[in-house]
Amino acid sequence: MDNHRENGMSDRAGHTDILIVGGGLSGTLLAAQLMRLPGRRRVRVIEPRAELGRGEAYSAVELGHTLNGNAARMSVDPDNADDLSQWLSEFIDVGGWPEAHEQRVSVSELFPPRGLFGLYVQQRLAEAQAVGEPQGSSVEHIRGEAVRVSPDGPGVQVQLADGQCLQGDVAVLATGMFAAAHTPQIHATGVNATALDPWDVAAMARLAPQAPVLIIGSGLTMVDAVVSLEQAGHRGPIEVFSRHGLLPHVRRQPPAWVDFLAQDLSLRSPRQLLRELRRQCRAAQQQGVDWQAPLDTVRSHIPRLWSQASDAQRRQFVRHVRPWWESHHHRSPPLSAALVARLHQQGRLRIHAASFQGLEPAPSGQVCIRLRRRGQAQSEVVCGAALINSSGIEYDWRRVAKPLPQQLLASGLIQPGPLALGIAADPGGALIDAQGQVARCLFALGPPLRGMWWESTAVTDVAIQAKALAERLAHCR
Ligand SMILES: Cc1cc2nc3c(=O)[nH]c(=O)nc-3n(C[C@H](O)[C@H](O)[C@H](O)COP(=O)(O)OP(=O)(O)OC[C@H]3O[C@@H](n4cnc5c(N)ncnc54)[C@H](O)[C@@H]3O)c2cc1C
Repeated sequence: MDNHRENGMSDRAGHTDILIVGGGLSGTLLAAQLMRLPGRRRVRVIEPRAELGRGEAYSAVELGHTLNGNAARMSVDPDNADDLSQWLSEFIDVGGWPEAHEQRVSVSELFPPRGLFGLYVQQRLAEAQAVGEPQGSSVEHIRGEAVRVSPDGPGVQVQLADGQCLQGDVAVLATGMFAAAHTPQIHATGVNATALDPWDVAAMARLAPQAPVLIIGSGLTMVDAVVSLEQAGHRGPIEVFSRHGLLPHVRRQPPAWVDFLAQDLSLRSPRQLLRELRRQCRAAQQQGVDWQAPLDTVRSHIPRLWSQASDAQRRQFVRHVRPWWESHHHRSPPLSAALVARLHQQGRLRIHAASFQGLEPAPSGQVCIRLRRRGQAQSEVVCGAALINSSGIEYDWRRVAKPLPQQLLASGLIQPGPLALGIAADPGGALIDAQGQVARCLFALGPPLRGMWWESTAVTDVAIQAKALAERLAHCR
């Protein structure tokens, strides 16, 4: 039991005590930003993984699992867009990532492996600690899962699964994304089949090379899964099923295009926006410019547009524009996209527009799934030797079967965000409780704020939020 508050340590030492739940990218960037600000604070990051700064995304060990943007786009320093390129240059100069030379492009155009990006995040945290520690600030990694957050006098208490209780002045939820609620529970249902983790190359290497593989979902996780299969020596057929059957486009590096949304703030409804975007894309193409150029200018306006939109407009966007937005905006790194395109051309990988209905009993060593193809009334059963679930993220916390989201909702400390995407917060990340009150000492950043900003997940979103939240917390005692 941590009893520093009972000892009055926080007040005596002049520290602010900040508990961060989740030590992936968001929690780690927040901790780093807090270390760099004047003042003394004790930051404790509660994270079950062995290392901070990685989470699911940046724990990748496979070199082919890369960032989906080049180094020029993935700085974690909102004040220095070249921060990752600079770190990477130094890293490559001292012999790190020797394969980078094979790509024959400038460092800023490289798409680094995500595991390497995790190392960059960790080093930036270590540097920030070196700035904060002489001022009396510290970051500590507490290994464990938070299962309960509750008010504690003027502050907050976080309970861990092992019974440990931590007290702080504020707590921040940086819990990231949760797997889609309809994830096939292969083992739980007793279906005799093989379910594979999209990133587990070692497990895939145990498959027969010609084994037919089924993949649910056709987004970037599917692209990673195909890279994993290839690395594992799989050479059999791959059947990909997703509701719309859309593949992510490949990311190119188009020249800058005029920021047309900044010039016309009256454009708001999804329909108006789409019409104008299409017009801009056509204009670009007529000038020989890639359609990705106008699309990329939209990105920085998304939080403003989403937060200004009515719920009806947001629903309209989610229903009609989202699949298109996902495949055009969340684009694939070029090397991975080339692999998918090659397998598709060879007929080894096939994409089907079909929705997953559930698992079916299957003979030993097989997995069978029920699907309904787009436009068809009847469902059908498809079997393979293995199933990979890449069907995405569950943003509705009411459907997340984990202790902390359940407890926070049941206690009324949080409420679902707009359209039940993530949780509700004020524009600065302070959570809003079930009665609509803004919390004084409970905050969130990153994917839990999906409903507030729509795009609240990518490296740049998280980096900007971490900086703003650190500044807010620095003034919050
Ligand atoms: C596979 C993958 C690839 C991605 N690739 C890119 C990319 O190329 N470019 C890009 O811009 N974005 C990418 N993203 C999106 C984004 O960068 C990540 O989602 C980012 O990791 C978000 O950081 P986070 O810390 O909020 O979440 P996470 O990295 O998911 O970290 C959350 C952490 O919280 C911990 N946690 C959860 N609940 C608790 C609890 N109750 N107690 C204690 N700890 C808890 C988890 O263990 C986890 O480590 C990718 C995401 C994924 C999943």
